[in-house]
Amino acid sequence: MADPSIEAMSGPRLLPADDTAIAEAANALRQSQVVAFPTETVYGLGGGTLDPRALQMIYELKGRPSDNPLIAHVTGPEAAGEITTGWDDRCSLLAEAWWPGPLTLVLGRAAHVPDLASGGRPTLAVRSPEHPVARSLLDAYGGPISAPSANRSGAISPTQAQHVLDDFAGRPEADGLIVLGGDRCSVGIESTVLDMTVDPPRILRPGVLTAEVLRPLLGEVEMTALQQTSASPGTMERHYAPQTPCLLVDEEELQAHLSQADRRCVVITSSRRSVSPPHVLIEMPADPKGYAAELYAALRQADAERVDVVLVESAGEDDPNWIAIRDRLMRAASDRGS
Ligand code: AMP
Ligand code: MG
Repeated sequence: MADPSIEAMSGPRLLPADDTAIAEAANALRQSQVVAFPTETVYGLGGGTLDPRALQMIYELKGRPSDNPLIAHVTGPEAAGEITTGWDDRCSLLAEAWWPGPLTLVLGRAAHVPDLASGGRPTLAVRSPEHPVARSLLDAYGGPISAPSANRSGAISPTQAQHVLDDFAGRPEADGLIVLGGDRCSVGIESTVLDMTVDPPRILRPGVLTAEVLRPLLGEVEMTALQQTSASPGTMERHYAPQTPCLLVDEEELQAHLSQADRRCVVITSSRRSVSPPHVLIEMPADPKGYAAELYAALRQADAERVDVVLVESAGEDDPNWIAIRDRLMRAASDRGS
């Protein structure tokens, strides 16, 4: 948790997202600054897509490797067409069905868009967010906003304004960073990233919109295997990860861990109602939508408990609606250093 006295001295500034704050944030963007704002997936750290200085600052603030591309947020298909190449009828169908929403399309990058907007790639990822604060900010700024998740690189994505404040509190480089407040993010995990530059289109990062719901519109859709995501660099393993060692376990393994002496565990589960002390239970919703919405807050809470190990009970095997959650859990649980 952030120490409020440190927050007051330096670091980010939380503003309730009213018209005045949105205007102030849009103004900051026009001055090549970055701002944090809620989207329905996770909080974003945004800067102007056509503004190399702002893009550079995003990478610096996040500590993000400069070859890890950003997603450009736009008001809709027309704005997407201005910064990409290759928008076709299939994209229009997808946008009609799912925009605004948690679907990111990878297209060609238009010549006037800086290299840095997509980590030097010839492609550019675009998404139209649904969250009213994100939309108001896009309208007030009047241009596309590139925004990765508003956490330090490698850490857990923020789904509440407080998470952003916690991550950047006391960091001089985040002094004065505007954080627009909002409710908890309703989707709670990052968007589905769909590569439209290949045929058939390929899911590079799973999200709540699954191949099953995209196929009726596109015919074939390929799915990158969970462990092979180099085409989408930010999806490398050991990501979205708590500081505490984290294990993905079945019921039997869970029992074995809990009965070991000298060890305190957090158990993240949707099937148990209690664990005996000194262990700590974080109860999760049993449905994938509810689970996704609470996942990152649960991982952050698990870290704050300062236990020896976080045990996450496996859920949703063989169910496509759990693929994105399982993907994030596998990354949270993968070995340090990989
Ligand atoms: P984040 O902004 O943290 O949600 O991460 C954005 C992620 O979207 C990147 O880490 C990539 O996995 C993916 N992505 C963004 N742009 C591209 C692109 N041009 N090509 C492939 N994947 C991309
Ligand atoms: Mg991220």
